[in-house]
Amino acid sequence: MSREAAPDPTSRLQEDSAFSYRCHACGRCCHHKLIYLAPHEVLQLARHLGMRTTAFLAELAGPGPSLRLREEDGACIFLDGSACRVHPVRPLACRLYPLGLHADVDGSETFSPLDPHPHSAGEYGREGTVAGFLAAQGVGPWRDWSRRYAQLHSRMLEVLARLEATPPSAVSPTPEIAAALDAIGTGDWMDIDAVLERDATQRGTPPPATVEQAIARHLALLHAWLDALLAATRPVQADAASDARSRASPSAIDTRGT
Ligand code: SF4
Repeated sequence: MSREAAPDPTSRLQEDSAFSYRCHACGRCCHHKLIYLAPHEVLQLARHLGMRTTAFLAELAGPGPSLRLREEDGACIFLDGSACRVHPVRPLACRLYPLGLHADVDGSETFSPLDPHPHSAGEYGREGTVAGFLAAQGVGPWRDWSRRYAQLHSRMLEVLARLEATPPSAVSPTPEIAAALDAIGTGDWMDIDAVLERDATQRGTPPPATVEQAIARHLALLHAWLDALLAATRPVQADAASDARSRASPSAIDTRGT
């Protein structure tokens, strides 16, 4: 690979753009980075370390949750010398590095080169394409799960905004909905093992066995919570619509009568 300067960080790359990068595992890029973790990333890291997500979040995650950094040198706690201790399950941001992913509202995605560490040993080139680089990093399922959690998160924000706009006296949540609201408000929804164990206890069935099944069930449960929260506001909206119609009717009659 020919050594080239790092691409312009303001440029936007497509999947077919010329790009290649060779990591020489110097470990310098794994310092002072704030990398937020999606629930599926917490699950993968926890499983790799033989932990429950509840324990991982309490003991190993930084705020957010995020990859925790060592206080003494700002290194990710999973950096061992210059090697990543969790390489097979490293988060999406680590797989994409030195690229950042940008998702537009229309669903299209582009990539931008990130500013490299000034002393990084990584080598840039133009021998391959962005798509080839992503495939070599095993980005596929991580990107798909991240998309699905991003969709869930934006739906969650929409539901919370809608509930905030609904007069509190007009919503009478069931205990399940109150628990769902509490879990969303506190961030407890991100703790996949806790959510799935509650669900398994209620249903009297064992929790999902594989990571893929756990992620699918977790997403399905959270979407069901959001459906229930939306349904809780529907009667209010129906009342509001009915009020609006009754207010509009005399005006319409008046207008026709003039
Ligand atoms: S998870 Fe691994 S690749 Fe990502 S910052 Fe930590 S040590 Fe580096």
